[in-house]
Amino acid sequence: MEFEKIEDFQSKIKRVLVSEEEIKAAVKKAGEMINSLYDGRPILLVSILKGAFIFLADLCREVTVPCEIGFMVAKSYYEGTQSSGIVKITMDLQQDISKYHVVIVEDIVDTGRTLKDVMKLLASRNPLSLRVIALLDKPDRRVVELEVDYSLFTIPNHFVIGYGLDCGEYYRTLPYIAEFSEE
Ligand code: 5GP
Repeated sequence: MEFEKIEDFQSKIKRVLVSEEEIKAAVKKAGEMINSLYDGRPILLVSILKGAFIFLADLCREVTVPCEIGFMVAKSYYEGTQSSGIVKITMDLQQDISKYHVVIVEDIVDTGRTLKDVMKLLASRNPLSLRVIALLDKPDRRVVELEVDYSLFTIPNHFVIGYGLDCGEYYRTLPYIAEFSEE
């Protein structure tokens, strides 16, 4: 993706779908839900890079139960803005998760393939418990059956950017979530 001028970059941000204030309030609420659910028990928050890195950073600072952080890289291969259906784990966790209550922190559930693969892999390692928290959910796009325990926002079928989510590695640093202009 190349931009000759700043206006070209900005023109791809079609409209704001979730504002910075809405994100802040929802992340606070999600942190409170985690604190009351685990009630003092230690947890391992597993972030799927790269899209969830900002969500994880904000969410973990709302968590008051003892909390460790782990990272995985799961790559969904995209053709433009369309999922190809191929998911590959390119970086795995360091922890032996059999001693942990694990919470997967995901950026967006689209077809559901990435999460389904990651959940299957982590479940096979027998964690004490396994839950999923997703920033965004696009249920209209689902192609696999999947239980997401908690999602902060349900959005329509648009390709979105910002708050960790990219297009061609750009736009992750926007403080809000916006619809990407395909034009
Ligand atoms: P799924 O396997 O559910 O189809 O796709 C999951 C991954 O695809 C997400 O973790 C995210 O990295 C990427 N993805 C899906 N929808 C979008 C979207 O609207 N915007 C961006 N930036 N990435 C998306």
